[in-house]
Amino acid sequence: MRERTLIILKPDCVLRGLCGRVLQRFEARGLKVIAMKMRRLDDGVLDEHYSHLKEKTFFGAIKEFMKSAPVVIAVLEGAECVKLVREMCGPTNARNAPSGTIRGDFSTSMQCNLIHASDSLETAEKEIARFFSKGEICDYERINEVALNTKEERA
Ligand code: ADP
Repeated sequence: MRERTLIILKPDCVLRGLCGRVLQRFEARGLKVIAMKMRRLDDGVLDEHYSHLKEKTFFGAIKEFMKSAPVVIAVLEGAECVKLVREMCGPTNARNAPSGTIRGDFSTSMQCNLIHASDSLETAEKEIARFFSKGEICDYERINEVALNTKEERA
């Protein structure tokens, strides 16, 4: 089943210049980027986004980290991609993340673990709506005669 999920390339990913390499993994796997923007997050949106962590001792620290530089936010689309993207990210604590996962290949930190990905279909819907208006999400087919220049080649 075709699904959509939200990812956030966190400040460490942006500052270390890893956004391209991380996005490339999703594209190479066959997932489609259907929306993307760079934005600085503020307390308002972080209080909402991390509301499940508000009782945790590290709540203040994670918010400071997420505000420390701009982030890149994207919507990915593909077959059962909510679970797939979480698996490709690896577990929260990058130190325990297996090689081959994004966190396991690029980080050893619990906090600076490069990427956020929605944890369920229900969360994904809420998170996509939190960061993107309907008009910012692009519905397009990969096979496009104009963009791929197939018409001209046949002529
Ligand atoms: P995930 O991002 O894997 O879904 P959580 O929703 O539990 O994990 O946590 C959100 C983010 O908060 C994590 O990705 C990580 O950046 C940070 N975090 C989680 N646990 C800790 C911790 N014990 N200490 C510091 N930061 C943490």
